[in-house]
Amino acid sequence: MAADDLAPATRVVHLGRPPVEPGAAVNVPVVLSSTYVANGEINYARSGSDTIGAFELAVGSLEGGTALAFASGLAAAAAIIEGMPTGTVAVLPKGPYFGVGELFSEQERLGRMELRLVDVADTEAVLEAARGADLLWIESPVNPTMEIADLPALCAGGRRSGALVVVDSTFASPLLVRPLDHGADIVMHSATKSLAGHEDLLMGVLVTRDADRLERLRYRRTNTGALPGSLEAYLALRGLRTLHVRLERQQRTAGVLATRLEAHPAVARVRYPGLASDPGHERAAALLSGFGSMISFETTGSGEDAERVCEAFGVIVHATSLGGVQSLAERRSRYAEEADRGTPPTLIRFSVGLEDVEDLWKDLAGALATVPA
Ligand SMILES: *Cc1c(COP(=O)(O)O)cnc(C)c1O
Repeated sequence: MAADDLAPATRVVHLGRPPVEPGAAVNVPVVLSSTYVANGEINYARSGSDTIGAFELAVGSLEGGTALAFASGLAAAAAIIEGMPTGTVAVLPKGPYFGVGELFSEQERLGRMELRLVDVADTEAVLEAARGADLLWIESPVNPTMEIADLPALCAGGRRSGALVVVDSTFASPLLVRPLDHGADIVMHSATKSLAGHEDLLMGVLVTRDADRLERLRYRRTNTGALPGSLEAYLALRGLRTLHVRLERQQRTAGVLATRLEAHPAVARVRYPGLASDPGHERAAALLSGFGSMISFETTGSGEDAERVCEAFGVIVHATSLGGVQSLAERRSRYAEEADRGTPPTLIRFSVGLEDVEDLWKDLAGALATVPA
């Protein structure tokens, strides 16, 4: 049966495995070799490995294109951003993932790019800014402020303007939305997050349907040495096997916790697209096949109060990153760069893991009790 006929839950389990035949291993080998005997298809590990190829095949198929794996999400983003010609006009979210924002800011400082910052939830404003632009960089949902972009309208509008349309879909994962189906030229993921899902590696991936673009990106990846290791690719593929079941459980728990957080007196605001009160709710309900595992909430009181909440967690770990089996939370404005981008001082980004929902709620409620009334 062709992979496209199977449901995502089945595909994440089966994609990228060796052919099923008598005596064959069911998993791809971890190829640990920097060099290869001459006169074959591959010479040197900077251009790939069978293990990396298996991960790419799986993610490419899930997103509906051809994938290239990178050493991190930022290495993947850099392959696009740093490969744009001098004089590029780029449209990007006001508060993008902060490493991506840094890559763009550096291009601006070097005099290579003009940046137009937009609220990605404001479709009219994005389309206005995209006129005459060369690159439209969309992140949705935005990390950590959770705005939801109207992907079909922005992809169509960006392409009409002649801009290259890139979607950082890390928060959604290929199971909630497939941006290439909505007209994006490239979809990007930090595979460090939910794709790998175990907080044990860094990886990134780009997926496109455009063969020329793929070859240009591959050329950059090879010549900048931005490839992941085969062991990381193996672990990421192993993590991907459970993406469907992890996400299902995590978003169920996230829905319960977001509702309770919203009613808590020490919480001033919750951003979770699954809440009917969320400004992105209707768009997310129409566009995404689930609301994801990420919640951002603002506490009442000061930034210091919110920091104390993070330090009071017991089950939830006070740490950066997201999308893994273990629940993590942090106050994003503890980073100066994030505060400069306008992230509220009391905003806590909460990545919901696989723990018991009541254990997580007790932990949240206990930590929130430290906020002065
Ligand atoms: C983490 C993240 C990145 C960067 O990926 P790394 O793997 O940490 O380099 C990019 N975009 C988003 C939305 C992220 O959450």
